[in-house]
Amino acid sequence: MDEGIDASFLRGGTLTVSRSPSQDARTIASVGDDRFWGLGDQHSRLLTKAQCDEMIKVAGTREGAFTPNCARINPAALARGLAIAVEKLGGRVFEQTDALSLRPGSVNTSGGKISAETIVIANEAWSPQIPERKRSIVPIYSLMIATEPLSKDFWNEIGWRNGETLTDARRMIIYAQRTADDRIAFGGRGAPYHFGSRIKDSYDSDFRTFRLLEKALIEMFPSASDAAITHRWGGPLGVPRDWESSVGINENRSLAWAGGYIGDGVTTTNLAGRTLADLITGNSSPLTDLPWVGHQSKKWEVEPLRWLGIRAMGGLTRSIDATEARTKRPARLRNRILDSFTGH
Ligand SMILES: Cc1cc2nc3c(=O)[nH]c(=O)nc-3n(C[C@H](O)[C@H](O)[C@H](O)COP(=O)(O)OP(=O)(O)OC[C@H]3O[C@@H](n4cnc5c(N)ncnc54)[C@H](O)[C@@H]3O)c2cc1C
Repeated sequence: MDEGIDASFLRGGTLTVSRSPSQDARTIASVGDDRFWGLGDQHSRLLTKAQCDEMIKVAGTREGAFTPNCARINPAALARGLAIAVEKLGGRVFEQTDALSLRPGSVNTSGGKISAETIVIANEAWSPQIPERKRSIVPIYSLMIATEPLSKDFWNEIGWRNGETLTDARRMIIYAQRTADDRIAFGGRGAPYHFGSRIKDSYDSDFRTFRLLEKALIEMFPSASDAAITHRWGGPLGVPRDWESSVGINENRSLAWAGGYIGDGVTTTNLAGRTLADLITGNSSPLTDLPWVGHQSKKWEVEPLRWLGIRAMGGLTRSIDATEARTKRPARLRNRILDSFTGH
């Protein structure tokens, strides 16, 4: 259904640029993975440096890959638009209302008790705050910065005409888009995990991570070095122990859940919502047959092992990128250790 939400949607695909020999290997392997899963050239293809530069001129590009299966959006506009769409359909949205505890058939909130035949737990990174789901998910932060709107000269030099989203093949994920108002919004992982899966508003800002993002942005776009950074923000992602999202419902359909999208929830939540609708109404459909339905990830380790492990993996990821950038060779052993931790 088209809800007519204006969220600056532009389906420009994703360009992955490769900026070192190790990144070349990962880019080739990721397109190889697509072929393994039966996805052909129309889903992903390798690009030469000239083809990458033709799309977006990123400093240090050696080669790359492109998939058309991605769109740029403004997530705040999408969230607001979805809330309005829910209200138009007769749903009610209660903001600033904490769910404090739940029992089959009812939820106690800071604004009163709500009764429902089916309760859906969809609090993603905040899942550890529900006692039964304490170790199902950990909150891992993703942070972003945005430049001021950039000049016509800048865009003439860089290209980026078709709304492609952008990443490279380093291990510490970074991602970027040219916004509808001609800024670069640039994000990445690497902000610290907090002991006990704690979440606080103050964790949305980590100045060390913001500085690293600025550095990465300028390395990729040296001509943006004088651009003012006008916005800095972030938030927690929900990460299950096996890196696999899931949706599900209990036998008597009183309790359902969805989540663990890591950093890919914008579209996966849509699939989860449609799947939950079928699960809740008892409608057996191709969606309810998908392998993520009813999937149970194993639990995260208890503290302090969890904190030690996640912090160590963060350090390992940074060290792989630093070593590979310096030596121009893959850090094979460390990559293998990281892959075994992330389940890849
Ligand atoms: C900086 C950043 C960049 C991202 N970039 C991308 C991207 O490029 N592509 C992509 O696909 N995804 C991206 N994501 C991830 C994406 O935003 C999430 O996967 C998606 O929002 C998940 O949707 P959700 O509704 O399940 O959970 P959320 O959007 O996390 O919403 C969960 C909600 O539950 C509320 N909540 C928690 N506990 C309670 C409680 N006790 N009572 C009431 N409410 C509660 C929270 O306040 C929150 O509003 C990004 C995330 C961040 C932070």
